[in-house]
Amino acid sequence: MSKEPRNKYRRFSFLSDWRGIKNALGEMRGIGHPRQPKLNLDRASASVDPTFDEQWFIKTISDRVESHPDNSMEFPFAGERIFEKPLVGFVAGDDPIFAKFKEIIGPHHFAPAEIMAWQAQNNGVNPPPAGELSVVSFVLPISGKTRRENAEENQWCSERWAQTRLRGEIFSQALVRELVALLMGKGILAVSPDVTPMFRKQRYPKVGWASPWSHRHIAYAAGLGTFGKNDLLITEKGCAHRVGSFVVHRKLKPNRPRPEDIHAYCLQYQGTECLKCAKRCPVGAIDIKGHDKETCYGRVAKSLRYCNKNYHIFIYGCGLCSVNVPCEAGIPNK
Ligand code: SF4
Ligand code: SF4
Repeated sequence: MSKEPRNKYRRFSFLSDWRGIKNALGEMRGIGHPRQPKLNLDRASASVDPTFDEQWFIKTISDRVESHPDNSMEFPFAGERIFEKPLVGFVAGDDPIFAKFKEIIGPHHFAPAEIMAWQAQNNGVNPPPAGELSVVSFVLPISGKTRRENAEENQWCSERWAQTRLRGEIFSQALVRELVALLMGKGILAVSPDVTPMFRKQRYPKVGWASPWSHRHIAYAAGLGTFGKNDLLITEKGCAHRVGSFVVHRKLKPNRPRPEDIHAYCLQYQGTECLKCAKRCPVGAIDIKGHDKETCYGRVAKSLRYCNKNYHIFIYGCGLCSVNVPCEAGIPNK
């Protein structure tokens, strides 16, 4: 790549990256999201259409990740894929784990029926009972190239990682918005809380900074992974990923067993000395007791300036504790 376009690319770094500002407003304040799609009332009986079964959801999500134009890096890595083949799992809308989330995370965490009631009300239809709902959860593994690049860093995230943090989030939101719109167009109620005004991050008494819909906890509920000392979800594709989920008015069978132990795949929690993630953290936010969210967020917030200045991206990111560790790309062997 010649030096000229890179210099131009960096010239107005604070002014030009409106996508990052929009993304931050959506994440922190629940504003700036496009309107919710309307339910096609002419086809409202489609919630029992057998076409939309577990395989349909797995294939549709996988195909979109494979071919979506937004699953793509930009300059200077234009054309590289952000995410690899996804993992997809399902949780029943009336799974008792959602009541547990209200105890563990806090009463602010939505149950599927609560967020679906909001969507039903928007469309003038009766809210479906929890037993008729499912949550579809997906894990988008970060590309090997990006992981390798971030593994070389030990203070701030790499450029590919920063792009993944911003463009990957934009893609993940576009993906759920399109899936929700597709289903609503077919007459099937669907909603993804993180692209509605209901979603906003704030400090909660029990868990500190959190949102009312934890994609990671839902992915655990769907049997897609368990938590590590770094608080990340260790899946069969590792812990370097983005996670998404949405609620749908369909009964989908859970397709993966969920370990009882929420730390089943972490070496250290299972008694094998590891803590490699703690050694990777530049601010000591992980230790034998676990992950200190406040220290981590403090560091991640500071990275905004670094990413903007060096990569021309208005985004924060880190992820150093998810790479160059035994759980980076799979479930580690004991
Ligand atoms: S690096 Fe080791 S201790 Fe940290 S989450 Fe992964 S397996 Fe657990
Ligand atoms: S994401 Fe947080 S815990 Fe992980 S390395 Fe960065 S600052 Fe440390």
